Amino acid sequence: MNCSPQAAAYPAFLAEHFPPPPSLLAELLPLPDPEPDELAWQSRWFSGDFGRDFLTTSGSSVSIIDFGWWNHGAGPDFRDCVISIAGELRRGSIELDGEARDWDHHGHSTNPAYRDTVLHLQLSSHTKGEWFTRTDDHRLVPQVRLDLATPLGDFNTPAPPAAHPGRCLNIFRQLGPDKTLSILEAAARYRLERKSARLQRTAAIHGRDQALFQAFADALGYSRNRLPLTVLAQRLPLKFLLSRPDDSEALLFGVSGFLHGQAFDHADTPTRAWLRGLWDQWWRYRDTFAPGQPRLPLRWNLTGTRPLNHPQRRIATLQLLVKNWPSLRRLLQPATFREKALRTLAASLHHPYWDHHYTLQALPSAKPMALLGSNRLTEILANVCYPLLIAEHEPLWAAYQKIPAPTDNEKSRRAALRLFSGHPHLDQLTGKLWQQQALLQIYEDFCLTDHTNCAACPMPEQAARQS
Ligand code: SF4
Repeated sequence: MNCSPQAAAYPAFLAEHFPPPPSLLAELLPLPDPEPDELAWQSRWFSGDFGRDFLTTSGSSVSIIDFGWWNHGAGPDFRDCVISIAGELRRGSIELDGEARDWDHHGHSTNPAYRDTVLHLQLSSHTKGEWFTRTDDHRLVPQVRLDLATPLGDFNTPAPPAAHPGRCLNIFRQLGPDKTLSILEAAARYRLERKSARLQRTAAIHGRDQALFQAFADALGYSRNRLPLTVLAQRLPLKFLLSRPDDSEALLFGVSGFLHGQAFDHADTPTRAWLRGLWDQWWRYRDTFAPGQPRLPLRWNLTGTRPLNHPQRRIATLQLLVKNWPSLRRLLQPATFREKALRTLAASLHHPYWDHHYTLQALPSAKPMALLGSNRLTEILANVCYPLLIAEHEPLWAAYQKIPAPTDNEKSRRAALRLFSGHPHLDQLTGKLWQQQALLQIYEDFCLTDHTNCAACPMPEQAARQS
């Protein structure tokens, strides 16, 4: 997509001091040992974050024509893929491993289930010397080493810097609101267009609806369960769930691993009744989709998660989005999009069990709880709807600029404290969602990459040049 002038201004604003621009550095986090993060890399691969065109380790060009589907059972990670290698089309599976020798270490070379593998992806070059990926019938499989400098995205978030006013505080006061707002607008545009580019990349591979579905799942997983919810939406694609409307809830809860016997044994009567209904449907799929089947099961982060944000409630919300998908699709059209209509739809999402339960273990709450509350929906608007829709229909930028900032974003509060603490025009600079997004971008690009407690951060001097 073409960068708007405002969005282009932001990297230029940054580039003076950072080669390459720090907005990239913020994403190019040092890759830890790839093994524990293999699920995150698989998810990134399947979303198209690495692109579609590669060179094999022997120098042949390879393009991914079809990313296939995420395998639930034994065998390679992705099935029914189509690749073009040196101009020749091949259909088969794709396997992603930490490094080349894992192919042998994991027994794939003698396992007939891997016989149709057409591409072996690797995350590291730790394997010494030349290594041949070979199937059990002695066919060589082309290898591609993924570029680990490819943005990792937000699944790995660095530790936040101290929450205290930063060195740029005085500069922003001196600049005045108009010049500060123009810096914020450039940063907000830049952020929006990067989000949009990512959504469009996934849409080009899996279609617009699936890209939206994955992005909704990601946003519902915020902040501690983004990866498992995204992978859940990748392993159970929207089209598959829509084709089984009566079973989609059982599938989502079953594949997530929450339909286990223990949940039933310790449950109260309404929970047992609800679980029994799901089990009646889930047993037909269990052997195919059992949570232990993939080598990398979903790991839910349950500690420190607010009860309202418990992943079980988020999965219930995701299922309601599936149930209401035809309406959602109609609403998410660029030329006719009305935020109010989306808010009305969100407010209408009700579930007989989850309206009154925090988790499967919790006692019911007398007061109903919204499954998609106003703040969460605002985050979805900022991270999913507007990035996609503005790219398709620029006039929506004006509507986006009117959205008030949500009140529960800890990271943006921290950013506002560092940049604008005590600023006489604080409300004018931070009261809107787009301004909050701009602050987050600056925070990620400058505050999170600074390790000198502001001393060596170029932002104050850079901002001063705008005066
Ligand atoms: S790190 Fe830079 S941008 Fe962040 S508060 Fe300090 S001076 Fe400001």
